Amino acid sequence: MEKVKVLIVGAGPAGCTCGLLLLKKKVECLVIDQAEFPRDKICGGGLPPRSYRFLSQLLPEFRYDYNNVKRLKLSIEGREVIDIQMKEELRIVKRRQFDAQLLETYQKSGGAFLNDSLMDIEEKDGEVIATLKSGRQMSCDYLVGADGANSRVRKYLNPHCDRGSFILEQYGPKSPENAIQINLSASYQIGYYYSFPNAACDVQGFGDKNTTLQSFRQVLREMGCPDLKPMGAYIPQSTDYPLHERILLIGDAGGYANRLTFEGIYYAFLTASHAAEAISTGRPFAEVCRRTFVRKRTEERVARFFYSKTGLGILRFLCRTSPWLVRWCFIRLTT
Ligand SMILES: Cc1cc2nc3c(=O)[nH]c(=O)nc-3n(C[C@H](O)[C@H](O)[C@H](O)COP(=O)(O)OP(=O)(O)OC[C@H]3O[C@@H](n4cnc5c(N)ncnc54)[C@H](O)[C@@H]3O)c2cc1C
Repeated sequence: MEKVKVLIVGAGPAGCTCGLLLLKKKVECLVIDQAEFPRDKICGGGLPPRSYRFLSQLLPEFRYDYNNVKRLKLSIEGREVIDIQMKEELRIVKRRQFDAQLLETYQKSGGAFLNDSLMDIEEKDGEVIATLKSGRQMSCDYLVGADGANSRVRKYLNPHCDRGSFILEQYGPKSPENAIQINLSASYQIGYYYSFPNAACDVQGFGDKNTTLQSFRQVLREMGCPDLKPMGAYIPQSTDYPLHERILLIGDAGGYANRLTFEGIYYAFLTASHAAEAISTGRPFAEVCRRTFVRKRTEERVARFFYSKTGLGILRFLCRTSPWLVRWCFIRLTT
């Protein structure tokens, strides 16, 4: 049986970031992914300043392509309520390209990568044994589950985990405005419509607690978008975090996406850095993540209020009477 200190399952933002951080700490690791890169990932690709600043702090050497956007138009029930010009840009990446660039950076830094799929997990004598689709078996001191929304590692720890919110999106024609558009509505059940302009197209999406193809198409009609080729994926948002001494869940596998904005890439970077710290220092992952867990609970409460009828009413009122306050809150939320 092959032996590796840390086996990371998944080469998305969480897995590659964790791999790169472990390499910097001189901890032996192997990243595996079932997909051949470049591969697509259903995602708006929005990186707010908090996300890309944190990324450049963690991995200053990483270079990637993005579209620079400084304008956000917010509407409620289809009526524009505020047009925000930002000082700092939001970066919109194409995930196919971004994830491939991150994996390439990991490999160029000397990181080991294998194109294979995790099929089974066993625990024996304090070690974790992973069986891969190719038939290879690997024993490791730590198994890091960075295998996204349908995580097999997470199912091993918690077979009954909640799948989260289902989001549908499509690649719409590129509008000349280069602005992010968000629409909120009392008829959405904790969710929103968005249009994120990347370098090639406008990624138009919608998701709430009860997303269906029908509700997506209705939202597209209301927002004046053509009905193109919808693609769907889950964003897991856990309220329970299965913790294990040697099996760590990061990124979407751990269900860390933001409760209010649904962004998950920042939390992929953050929890990857938590895992690298826990593994390299021997500190329990639960202890390293403590502040993140507290933050998740706060987000949960804020999201419930924000998306309620009262929350939307207050937002609409503030956009009319104190737009500066809405701008300030938005900047606080994204930086
Ligand atoms: C419609 C939609 C829009 C979104 N928009 C945004 C946004 O604008 N901004 C933002 O910040 N977040 C957004 N998110 C969330 C974001 O996409 C995720 O939070 C992010 O991709 C999580 O990264 P990750 O590395 O944890 O997982 P992923 O990026 O999903 O990577 C997981 C990897 O694991 C691999 N894998 C899976 N199973 C196995 C296995 N058994 N063996 C080997 N490999 C395996 C997969 O091939 C994949 O490469 C969006 C999500 C959705 C669904």
